[in-house]
Amino acid sequence: KVQSQQAPMSSRVPHVLLVSAPLQGHVNPLLVLGRHLASRGLLVTFSTAPHGGLKFGHGDGSTVDFGRGTIRFEHLKGGALWASDDPRYHDAMDVLRHLEETAPPVLAELIRGQSEAGRAVSCVVANAFAPWASRVASGMGVPHAMLWTESCAVLSLFYHYFHSLADFPSREAGPGAMVAVPGLPPLAAGDLPALIHAPEEIMWRQVLIADLRSLRETVTWVLLNTFDELERPTIEALRPHLPVIPVGPLCSGTESHGSGGHDDDDSVAWLDAQPPRSVVFVAFGSLLQISRDEMSELAAGLAATGRPFLLVVRDDNRELLPDDCLAAAAGSNRGKVVAWCEQARVLAHGAVGCFVTHCGWNSTVEALASGVPVVTYPAWADQPTNAKFLADVYGVGVRLPKPMARDALRRCIEEVMGGPEAVAVLARSAKWKAEASAALSTGGSLDKGIQEFVAAIL
Ligand code: UDP
Repeated sequence: KVQSQQAPMSSRVPHVLLVSAPLQGHVNPLLVLGRHLASRGLLVTFSTAPHGGLKFGHGDGSTVDFGRGTIRFEHLKGGALWASDDPRYHDAMDVLRHLEETAPPVLAELIRGQSEAGRAVSCVVANAFAPWASRVASGMGVPHAMLWTESCAVLSLFYHYFHSLADFPSREAGPGAMVAVPGLPPLAAGDLPALIHAPEEIMWRQVLIADLRSLRETVTWVLLNTFDELERPTIEALRPHLPVIPVGPLCSGTESHGSGGHDDDDSVAWLDAQPPRSVVFVAFGSLLQISRDEMSELAAGLAATGRPFLLVVRDDNRELLPDDCLAAAAGSNRGKVVAWCEQARVLAHGAVGCFVTHCGWNSTVEALASGVPVVTYPAWADQPTNAKFLADVYGVGVRLPKPMARDALRRCIEEVMGGPEAVAVLARSAKWKAEASAALSTGGSLDKGIQEFVAAIL
């Protein structure tokens, strides 16, 4: 039974505190995980440090009741953190650095406050790339899990690389050099996550190394946003090394995320008026910066397909968009440009026929779970690895070469939407949609994972 989170809690109801850096690709899956835990009767509190660049509708002290449970929001705050509208903290690297310096005492205070309020924290679940949360939890003797926000394949690659458990090509070997890691298909150096060969001073890399240390030393469970059918050999190969529990796919689907919306987002209404599987949807996540040249090639390539398109261009990239693209879209009503949309809902809409994606892991999982074929255009981080899997392992799309060129884009879109291969690509996409849906059903991979985790906490 779900208990009201306002009332004093019975000490026997486990209280899970979810902690995330305020990055879109991190808060979104953690929020979905929170729903699953709350719907199993656990007391769930969600804590992040919202800032102006984050699409997050849940203010400090609010609760969300989603029918099968409740999540309470109690954010990291205080003088040490930022004012929510401070534009300095729109940059992910600054966010990570600032949290590393300032968040630990704020989180410790929040955990103490829960005990004083009669709802002592039984378990902290912190996202990857927030190693300070692991340190605080273990320092206070609170069991904690890490929600790994990328694929199991990427975790395995990092684990094998940083613990020297497999032979990796050197930085100089070139993108074609191959690597063999247990549980993974042979991968070229160009398909590896960018942090493997990134310079050591990059903050993301330092944070990753801190995460890998806490995974070995203090973390009790590693929750994965994946499901058995998607990454079984990789999950099995990692089990002897890490206490992994697959709890995915963590995507909100047609349910409103509550964190992805934008005030003037009417994308779903616009899609309602488009024919089935006709629309090219283009979105590059919450962080990626594309260049002016890439943007104009993208706009020209979309126009050349003659197909309807829904293009997300974040406010920080808006001035890169050629005026004639906007005018043409508005004039013909064939295209729509928005600053943000509820992506999971868009992908689940029957009018979407293909997704041009930067291959962030959430976008990857959302595309697979929706059965939408993809054109991949990865930039960095885990995106090259996800693009490789989408195209060559899952077989749901094609890779658009870099740099963006209008003709290549048009050809790739045609290949997955109308060319001779399109039927086979669509059939494989439908197969993954069915697998994801089975993982989400009672007794499926997600259900088993959540049950295992809840039993472990109990
Ligand atoms: N997203 C969204 N609306 C948009 C663009 C992105 O809701 O217009 C969501 C998307 O559904 C995903 C997250 O933001 O859940 C982005 O995460 P991902 O891992 O794909 O990429 P990142 O932003 O971390 O690069």
